[in-house]
Amino acid sequence: YIDSYDPSTGEVYCKVPNSGKEEVHIRHSVFNMKLAMFHLSSFCHAGDESKVLHVLVKCSTPEIEAAVQAARGAFPGWSSKSPQERAQVLNRLADLLEQSLEELAQAESKDQGKTLTMARTMDIPRAVQNFRFFASSVLHHTTECTQMDHLGCLHYTVRTPVGIAGLISPWNLPLYLLTWKIAPAIAAGNTVIAKPSELTSVTAWMLCKLLDKAGVPPGVINIVFGVGPRAGEALVSHPEVPLISFTGSQPTAERITQLSAPHCKKLSLELGGKNPAIIFEDANLEECIPTTIRSSFANQGEICLCTSRIFVQKSIYSEFLKRFVEATRKWKVGIPSDPSACMGALISKEHLEKVRSYIKRARAEGAHILCGEGVDNLNLPPRNQAGYFMLPTVITDIKDESCCMKEEIFGPVTCVVPFDSEEEVIRRANGVKYGLAATVWSSNVGRIHRVAKKLQSGLVWTNCWLIRELNLPFGGMKSSGIGREGAKDSHDFFTEIKTITVKHE
Ligand code: NAD
Repeated sequence: YIDSYDPSTGEVYCKVPNSGKEEVHIRHSVFNMKLAMFHLSSFCHAGDESKVLHVLVKCSTPEIEAAVQAARGAFPGWSSKSPQERAQVLNRLADLLEQSLEELAQAESKDQGKTLTMARTMDIPRAVQNFRFFASSVLHHTTECTQMDHLGCLHYTVRTPVGIAGLISPWNLPLYLLTWKIAPAIAAGNTVIAKPSELTSVTAWMLCKLLDKAGVPPGVINIVFGVGPRAGEALVSHPEVPLISFTGSQPTAERITQLSAPHCKKLSLELGGKNPAIIFEDANLEECIPTTIRSSFANQGEICLCTSRIFVQKSIYSEFLKRFVEATRKWKVGIPSDPSACMGALISKEHLEKVRSYIKRARAEGAHILCGEGVDNLNLPPRNQAGYFMLPTVITDIKDESCCMKEEIFGPVTCVVPFDSEEEVIRRANGVKYGLAATVWSSNVGRIHRVAKKLQSGLVWTNCWLIRELNLPFGGMKSSGIGREGAKDSHDFFTEIKTITVKHE
């Protein structure tokens, strides 16, 4: 949308969709030049009545260069601070975010389309927790040291920050995922250049406003705004950025890998999923059904960990399906600020169309749509009222080879299919290119351990979903990513290890 910016006058030209005006003329205010922070517009979820929330300029090579200069200048000072000093800054940032929780939650909900309840109870509290968690865990990990006395020498290891970390995050959990990268990177002594998604930049911009107050030295956190092919690629290709931590889609990860290859960059890739839930006949359906509804449709199905293939053992298949569809119909879609809404709006018109196209393809292949899109007209907010809404949709009678069973839809759509045996369901659950998160429901402890071990999945939840212990590794197998995040894993990624040998005999 914004394409021209005149730095001499500080004026920005942008197109506002459906505003009735082809171009609006907005005076830009340079907020804080010590951050490489520029401006790009971000639109409120308002269906055909889009409203401008913020205007921010798109960054490209020159701005990334400025950010690299700032990060390079800040690195010696920041990396030589003690972990305790850095932890204090992280904790101050957490306190300030917490003080602005309501304001941030309102902005996140308007920008992303998620319910205000979710932004208040999950996204923003987790962003606060990310800074506190890494402030504390860095103290533990920097005291770790391996040493041995061997052949008249003392051998030991040290970990040092890598340098300037490039961080790129997606639109589904905007501040939550951006801070999950910024916090461990700076805690370990790196300086960072972070790029939020162009679709949801507002809370990142609000974070910038808190940096000074938290005492973050200039150049330590540089937030750049802009679209992937310009800002993202300029960051990934920059020779002085030795490390890229990326969360997003698999096609973008492929491009990032290509651009990083000539520089042998260190990469962490957290990508998509096609997550199975496996429901055995001895599952407690009272708990399983509401949790599987949540795992399928929370945040409009726009979480990489959402369930999108539900395998149900044949003996309970009909009962499960009946109860699952009934409960799905009660899952209220509402405007994001409605406190009774379980689900808000999808991120964009394009994304809504993409999600709907999967349902059309399934129908064309002979699958049945049991509820939701094109079947019901329940609980949907009036057309164009503040967002791109769709009903949670359940598909059945669908083959494992169908694109709906193989590709990540990333929307409120889930497929339910029957299975006979344990061996069969493991094979079918593993039969996709992704391997991020699986869920197993059973009351047989032996079976739970057996199945969990055989699933090709970085995370396996049994009889629950989305309960996280941040100390433990998070990440996917196969096309769901490379590397893991978490206390020790993030610290290892954001540092280099070195072996030092001192001859003493
Ligand atoms: P995306 O890949 O389109 O964009 C992610 C980020 O990459 C954005 O900031 C974007 O601007 C940037 N980008 C795009 N093209 C780029 C390029 N050529 N070079 C550099 N940067 C570029 O993904 P999205 O649509 O924002 O997010 C949805 C995807 O993210 C889904 O696949 C979802 O599963 C995945 N995701 C994964 C996790 C996880 O932890 N595994 C968490 C959340 C989301």
